[in-house]
Amino acid sequence: MLSIKNLHASIDGKEILKGINLEIKVGEVHAIMGPNGSGKSTLAAVLAGRSEYDVTEGEIIYNGKNLLELEAEDRAREGVFLAFQYPVEIPGVSNINFLKTAIGEILAYKGLEPIKAKDFLMMLKEKQELVEIDRALVRRSINEGFSGGEKKRNEIFQMAMLEPKLSILDETDSGLDIDALRIVANGVNKLKSEENATIIITHYQRLLDYIIPDFVHILYNGKIVKSGLKELALELEEKGYDFIKEEVEA
Ligand code: ADP
Ligand code: MG
Ligand code: MG
Repeated sequence: MLSIKNLHASIDGKEILKGINLEIKVGEVHAIMGPNGSGKSTLAAVLAGRSEYDVTEGEIIYNGKNLLELEAEDRAREGVFLAFQYPVEIPGVSNINFLKTAIGEILAYKGLEPIKAKDFLMMLKEKQELVEIDRALVRRSINEGFSGGEKKRNEIFQMAMLEPKLSILDETDSGLDIDALRIVANGVNKLKSEENATIIITHYQRLLDYIIPDFVHILYNGKIVKSGLKELALELEEKGYDFIKEEVEA
């Protein structure tokens, strides 16, 4: 599904990503961990197509397409979903209208018929139940006045509705209490399928008590310096990031 080769990216002339290699197959959950400032959010932003980053070298192939040639909007329509660390509030735009428009655009992009009102409502109901979100939240303006936990739940709800192929959650767990953490984890676990893949970016091991990743990668100073199975996250938790620094320097 996703093949990243020798990816280098800069911002304002400063190189942040220094040769990332990563292969993700459909059905897999990959966790990317690493100390603050190692380039985790930069990687997420480059995948989503945020324009302030310059890719200076390397390639990203997504479902057989050169991802770097697609505009951010088209990446979203191709099924790339980025969940933010701090979800934005959009007063005056209801969740429902946003989702109706977004789904309409995805279908039009694929040359498919628009969704029927009846089918949209059925889908809304089904996904509301799946992620256990309150009906009232779904009808309100996007994130306006939502608590931290409600924003997270809403983000997972959006993910459920848009049915992305590749979801990227960038430190979506930071600052969350244990209940909100469970909301995110349950959502990700329920939405996992043989047709999608997920990248979970996290600084702490905590989220990985609830989401079992297939692979764990450690990003340090713009490179993936170590990859392993879920046990690597536990090792990291136990030893701290200093052990990575020591290994890299040795
Ligand atoms: P992480 O998510 O792992 O904490 P980031 O990708 O946010 O790391 O940042 C990696 C590095 O890039 C840091 O040194 C950070 O200061 C730098 N950086 C990120 N965004 C910008 C920016 N807009 N301008 C300059 N430097 C930036
Ligand atoms: Mg950070
Ligand atoms: Mg970050």
